[in-house]
Amino acid sequence: MVFIHDTKQNLEAAVYLVNTLPGFDGVDTLTTLADFDAYLAVNPYTGVIRRDEAELSAVRDVRDRLRELWNVDRGGAVPLVNAMLEDGKALPRLVIHDGFDWHIHATSDDSPLATRVLVEAAMAFVDVIRADEYDRVRVCAADDCESVYVDYSKNGSKRYCDTGNCGNRMNVNAYRRRKARETV
Ligand SMILES: [Zn+2]
Ligand SMILES: [Zn+2]
Repeated sequence: MVFIHDTKQNLEAAVYLVNTLPGFDGVDTLTTLADFDAYLAVNPYTGVIRRDEAELSAVRDVRDRLRELWNVDRGGAVPLVNAMLEDGKALPRLVIHDGFDWHIHATSDDSPLATRVLVEAAMAFVDVIRADEYDRVRVCAADDCESVYVDYSKNGSKRYCDTGNCGNRMNVNAYRRRKARETV
């Protein structure tokens, strides 16, 4: 296991959110309350959740800031993560709930969901930075995809995102290029 459970869970939530941003297809997939519900179903949060337009809008606004974490290297991530912790007034404490073992929450349960999303993501990136595993924070290698992911594979060899069919598509493209060369 590369990262402990709650770190991975928070990284997955950040990946999910960032990948709702319009990419090559230009489609934003976090615009409706139904989209928001889908996000919360996959990435459950404890504490107060309003599920209204204002909360959705605040969570949408966090995405660009999270996306920046995929544009930087380990050293570049440090000031971004520190600023997130500061802006969210992070105060780490150990908690135990819902069948999970002891882990850290860094915001109070009644702080705005967008703040909790930002701070929990920042805490996960703290772990990535401390473990010196930042090269696992990657953008899909497909030439027509800019989805992000975190590579949890043992040997760190994952090249494509999980959102589409990028690995297969690139293999088919490479095959076609080979074929095209052969027939010239
Ligand atoms: Zn928790
Ligand atoms: Zn991809």
